[in-house]
Amino acid sequence: MEHIRSLCVYCGSSDRGPAAHKDAARAFGLELAQRGIRLVFGGGRVGVMGTLADAVLEGGGSVTGIIPDFLMRHEVGHQGVTQLEIVATMHERKARMAELSDGFVVLPGGLGTLEELFEIVTWKQLGLHTKPIVVVNSAGYWDNLRTVIDGIVAAGYARRENADLAAFVNSVEDVFPLLARLPGGELTVDSKRL
Ligand code: AMP
Repeated sequence: MEHIRSLCVYCGSSDRGPAAHKDAARAFGLELAQRGIRLVFGGGRVGVMGTLADAVLEGGGSVTGIIPDFLMRHEVGHQGVTQLEIVATMHERKARMAELSDGFVVLPGGLGTLEELFEIVTWKQLGLHTKPIVVVNSAGYWDNLRTVIDGIVAAGYARRENADLAAFVNSVEDVFPLLARLPGGELTVDSKRL
């Protein structure tokens, strides 16, 4: 899978979710390390994202965190990562995460995770990039999201092919088998224009 050297993972910054979600993040982090794939993430040490980053580091892998300076206080920036880039704005953060990554994976999370998912999907819909996007529906957590998306398609507000720009899998074990089948992608615009 030479076309995937780094993956951006969007996931929750809260510690209050089900323990199974952290277990999934930990398993995925260890797999990233074992495969030698760099994690690109939001740079926090709390919540699902902190568990994920810790697992990659525990497995001997590389982690790049991108965090706006104002969030360093709220999210408690992870000081142990391989690289921590401190940027000025949320927009700069997301553009940088997109630029550094060969694909995007969504684990359980909250409103911020959803925002990040929909932004990267809509950028793809607009042809700003062609990188793969995979949503991990751990323990059915994102079932309601699929229902919403299906409703949007049924109402005619999105084409089925655009709704399918994000592929759903049932567990973290299914991510790499799917990525191996999906074509690699690239940014099609200068990241400063994202
Ligand atoms: P959450 O899923 O709400 O825990 O947030 C996960 C990540 O999304 C965190 O790194 C947040 O900084 C980020 N985030 C939260 N709100 C937003 C937003 N409005 N736009 C972009 N990212 C956000």
